[in-house]
Amino acid sequence: MTVRFIDLPEIPLTDALRQSIYDRDGRRCAACGREEGLTIQHRKNRGSGGTDRFNGCAFLLTLCGGCNLALENDATFAKTGRRNGWKIGNGDDPAAIEVYYAVERAWFLLDAERPLRVPARGSAEDVPEDWR
Ligand SMILES: [Zn+2]
Repeated sequence: MTVRFIDLPEIPLTDALRQSIYDRDGRRCAACGREEGLTIQHRKNRGSGGTDRFNGCAFLLTLCGGCNLALENDATFAKTGRRNGWKIGNGDDPAAIEVYYAVERAWFLLDAERPLRVPARGSAEDVPEDWR
């Protein structure tokens, strides 16, 4: 099985890249829609020590500081985050797992290499209510 994202080179998260991810995500928190205090959420855990390097734009998501912290510290919110694609498992391909954007009430797939997203399901029918 080919796992494409592993083949992408690791690159540093520069400020320019950070800004382009914010632009991709409409400069709003994907979870709550807040426009202030934006941070970059690494959808996949970076492991102990952490790193500012990653291999692909699909790993990165705009969240506000509060939602970013809650994903780490609040088990209920973390569960919602996994269901909405804000957090993914270590074996998951981030470009293949849809992300729910609360403001648009819509699902998107993130491009692996460029800061682009494309509409996915086009329906908010199965959106959980408990992220509100
Ligand atoms: Zn938020």
